[in-house]
Amino acid sequence: MTGQDPTTPLDIDTSRPHPARMYDWYLGGKDNYPVDEEMGRQMLALDPRVPVMARVNRAFMHRATRWLAKNGVRQFLDIGTGIPTEPNLHQVAQQIAPDARVVYCDNDPIVLAHAAALLRSTPEGVTEYLQADVRDPATIVEGARKILDFDRPVALSLIALLHFISDEDGAHELVDRLLAELPSGSYLMMTHATADFTPEESAVATEKLKAAGVTLALRSREEFTRFFDALDLVEPGVAVVPEWHPELGDPVPGQDDGVIPGYGAVARKR
Ligand code: SAH
Repeated sequence: MTGQDPTTPLDIDTSRPHPARMYDWYLGGKDNYPVDEEMGRQMLALDPRVPVMARVNRAFMHRATRWLAKNGVRQFLDIGTGIPTEPNLHQVAQQIAPDARVVYCDNDPIVLAHAAALLRSTPEGVTEYLQADVRDPATIVEGARKILDFDRPVALSLIALLHFISDEDGAHELVDRLLAELPSGSYLMMTHATADFTPEESAVATEKLKAAGVTLALRSREEFTRFFDALDLVEPGVAVVPEWHPELGDPVPGQDDGVIPGYGAVARKR
């Protein structure tokens, strides 16, 4: 692992909610604090489907990773990894391709604290964890290059990450900057929450999170699609998350819950 020394006391701030820990709470994990649960409950009061959304999102990651591994991708750079939740991306990829190489990256110290679970690679494959912020792509690329061969295709995985990055912080430019480092034949896999289906609840959620110090930058279908402008979208293109290649799943949760307010897509670099 690079970055922070895992033997030093970790800087876990329990005075305000953190997205990684709220997400862990939605998934029924134990790596969260009262402040995360409290905000999580407020989100649930606005839309009781939030835990379903977390599971639907996780299931997309599994399907997209399977699709990529089946289509020959052997290298993954996963930014905004989250607290380990089985199966993690490397476990899905290595089940199909035991030699798959995966670099994980997150900026939350709680993920670093649990990174050991991400490092249990197959003997043929490799996993590594970088503690870094997506807003610092140079550091991520420098670390990832030590593990991944940037002359061969890499799948850049940004799953449920970019709705925490505002336009002011350059969300679109950051994606372009990361993709510019990758060769032709690389892929972008992404999910993103949207306010398109629940505008009023989403506005309240954004305000509540902002007051607690968390940026939520929900994007419309059009704004999400813009991330893929210079890429070739894999069929079926931009989809509501559960509708992207359901046949590659795990049964998709939330079928009876109406439209799940998030988009997903996978696209190939020309
Ligand atoms: N990708 C996982 C987790 C999504 S939760 C999944 O879909 O299951 C979002 C994750 O993004 C959290 O772990 C949070 O810590 C991380 N994150 C948020 N802002 C980030 C940033 N600026 N840089 C890196 N990671 C970030």
